Formats: sequence, structure tokens, C-alpha cells
Amino acid sequence: MSVSYWQAEGNQPVREVDFLVVGAGLVGCGAAYFAAQAGRQVVITEKADVALGASGRNAGFMITGLDSYYHRAIEKYGEAVAKEMWELSKHTIRFWRSVAAQTDEVSITTCGSLLLSESREEAADIEQAARALDAAGIDMLYHSRDPLGRGYFNAIENPDDGAVQPVQLAQAVLKTSGAELIANNELYHIEQTHPEQVTVYTRKVIFKANYVLLCTNAYSPQIDPYFIGKVIPTRGQVLVTEPMPEPPMKTLGYSDYGYMYYRSTFDNRLLLGGGRNRYFEQEHNTTEDFATDPVQRVLDAYLRQYFPDVTVPVARRWAGIMGFSVDGLPLAGTLPDKPRVGFAVGFTGHGLSLGAGTAERAVDHLLTGASLGAVDVRRLEAKILA
Ligand SMILES: Cc1cc2nc3c(=O)[nH]c(=O)nc-3n(C[C@H](O)[C@H](O)[C@H](O)COP(=O)(O)OP(=O)(O)OC[C@H]3O[C@@H](n4cnc5c(N)ncnc54)[C@H](O)[C@@H]3O)c2cc1C
Repeated sequence: MSVSYWQAEGNQPVREVDFLVVGAGLVGCGAAYFAAQAGRQVVITEKADVALGASGRNAGFMITGLDSYYHRAIEKYGEAVAKEMWELSKHTIRFWRSVAAQTDEVSITTCGSLLLSESREEAADIEQAARALDAAGIDMLYHSRDPLGRGYFNAIENPDDGAVQPVQLAQAVLKTSGAELIANNELYHIEQTHPEQVTVYTRKVIFKANYVLLCTNAYSPQIDPYFIGKVIPTRGQVLVTEPMPEPPMKTLGYSDYGYMYYRSTFDNRLLLGGGRNRYFEQEHNTTEDFATDPVQRVLDAYLRQYFPDVTVPVARRWAGIMGFSVDGLPLAGTLPDKPRVGFAVGFTGHGLSLGAGTAERAVDHLLTGASLGAVDVRRLEAKILA
């Protein structure tokens, strides 16, 4: 992003802060919580307002694990990393639940999930994933037939997964963190002006911060060129129907290698999302968060094929921008030329699974140099050098 001379030189007041988080999505609010727990005074600066990015536009699935099926995750990252990410997602979901348990303002449920297959080929993959989970000692239920009776082939059930109202969750995490939020305050530019101080130019304030943590996910390449090619902005689209007398589904469901997903809302609507794989060119490398006719037509057709019993009209359609990391794992670390500027980005459509745990590691790393484990961005450099 570029900012004009006139905007940048707007005589903003200078303010000293201890720990500045950029971005008030689920991850920024989570990071604010962990930094406050570490004894820091936390301020969040946000371009728009809390949960107006992907965090308030998602499907609200709290799914254990990565976007790849378990045996594929082992092939891609190795057994140790696949297990570590599984544990990180469990840790993250536990954190959201513990925040929600402190208030009655978050709709949240442990409804379980079904990973379903739409073809014989996918069914074979799901069977292999079930075997790999079993071999890793991870509890789940394998269904050799479609447990929903909707035309799927087989399924893996995880009874521990759950659903949430994500805007309420982000607001609750923000409140629990105790951090001050400065909304409508876009970051323009960051300079590491001193080894122990960062100057952050924003719309309303010039901050002098001891520490800065970027939680700007899909928008990170607009903030620092370091993220170009590492975080790919990717559009996700959903629709939600009018309410029905009964919930259309009891569990979360997802299929077509995660490209399609469906659940009941807390007021008995069907939420259906996905279809971006059919329009790859249009849905990748974009930060435009509007719903498009081609993808919405895919969702309409899916609704007719798999949910013919859902006859109520569609009430709303929307889109959001996710930050896909170049290798599918979250990215945490510090900017090479700005050691006091950390980041937790690249959740690849799984911020509710991996966001809080990654934010916690990023905060620890920035403050103490603690290990980041598998989310350490330096794994990409190692691959480039190899
Ligand atoms: C349609 C859809 C469905 C999804 N479904 C799921 C799901 O079911 N489960 C799941 O786990 N994940 C899902 N995701 C992904 C999930 O929403 C994200 O992984 C998660 O919200 C990432 O959180 P975040 O805080 O990192 O990003 P965001 O919520 O995008 O927050 C980034 C914030 O940074 C702010 N920002 C950007 N630039 C600046 C700047 N220059 N200055 C100040 N602030 C700035 C933005 O305004 C934004 O508020 C879905 C996403 C979409 C779009």
C-alpha cells in the first residue's frame, strides 16, 4: 500500500506504547491477550474495527488439525510436524472455549465434525487419513458409509470439534485481553528507528513502540514486501439461508478436500461455503471481499444436490479474504530488518484452528526469543537454501 505525502505528514500526535498489535481480528485479539498475560501494556491499532476482516466473515468451524488430510499432512510435513499442528489446533480451540466460558456473550457448541467424501477417490483418501490418525494414537470415528444419508461416501467424525459465532468470539477475546483498541486507524509505515524502539506511522497517531506484532494476515503483503510470495490473499465465499424450524445439520460437515463446508447456525439456518477451487484464478491473489456470481452459483448448485430438503431462500451471501501461506503452515517470526517487529500470519483458512496458538508463540518469541516450532517462518529460508 502507498500513502501520500499529505496523508503521512498530517501532524499526527506522537504516543509512546509498550506493545502494539496491528489488526483486531481473532489473531490480533488473541495476541493482545497473551502479551497482556506476559505483563505488557497492549494497544491494538486496526484499519477498520474488531472482526471486520476474515475473523468476522468465516464459517465458525473450530476443526482440529490442518487443511490437509492427516496422511497427506504427514507426507508433506513429516509425522512430527503433523502431530505438532494437531496439538496446536487443540490448544487453540481450548483457548477460544476458555474465553467463551467466561462470558455468556459467545454462542459456541461442541457439535463435532464430519469430514466427508464426494467421490470414490476421496473416499480412499479418507480411509487412509483414518488409518494415519489411528496410527498416531488420535481418537476419531471412521464411518464406512455416509452418516448423513445425503450422497456422500464415507466419513471421519471428530466429536471434539465445534462451532462458534466468530464476531462474538473476537469481541470476547478483545475484552478479556484488556487491551486498548484504536479503530479506524490504518498502519501506513513501520521503521525500526532504534534497536529497542519501533516507529509506527498510522492514520491518527505516530506510535513509538517497544514491540510491534503484525496480525494482518491476508493484508500483510500490503504492509511489508517481506510477505510477498509468502502470504497469498485468497477469497472465501459463503451463503446462509433463512431460518428453519429445526437445525438442518447436527454437526459441522466438510468435503471435496475441504473446499466445501456446511453447518447449522445457532438460529437454524444452513451456512454453506466453498467452491473457490472451481474459479482458482479469480479467487486467488485478490483482496476484494465481494461475493461473485460464478462461485455463488456453485454454492446454489451444491445446495440443490446435497440439501434438497432445505427449501427456504438464501438470506445473505458474502466473502472474506484469507491469508494462505506458501506452504500451508502458519508463519510466525520477526522481520529480518526489524527485530522488534514480529508477526503471526498465513492461517490458510484455519485461523479458528491455529490462530491463538500461533499468536501465543509469536508473542513469546518476540519478547523472549522462545522457539516457534513448526510455525517458524525460517523453515522457508531453510528450504530455499537446501
Ligand atoms: C469465507 C471464509 C470462511 C472461513 N471459515 C473458516 C472456518 O470455518 N474456520 C477457520 O478456522 N477459519 C476459517 N476462515 C479463515 C479465518 O477467518 C481466518 O484464518 C482468521 O480470521 C484469520 O484471523 P486474523 O486475525 O489473522 O485475520 P483478519 O480477521 O483478516 O484480521 C486482520 C486484520 O488486520 C487489519 N489490517 C489490515 N491491514 C491493516 C493496516 N494497514 N493497519 C491496521 N490494520 C490492518 C484488517 O482490517 C483486519 O481486521 C474462513 C475465512 C473466510 C473468508
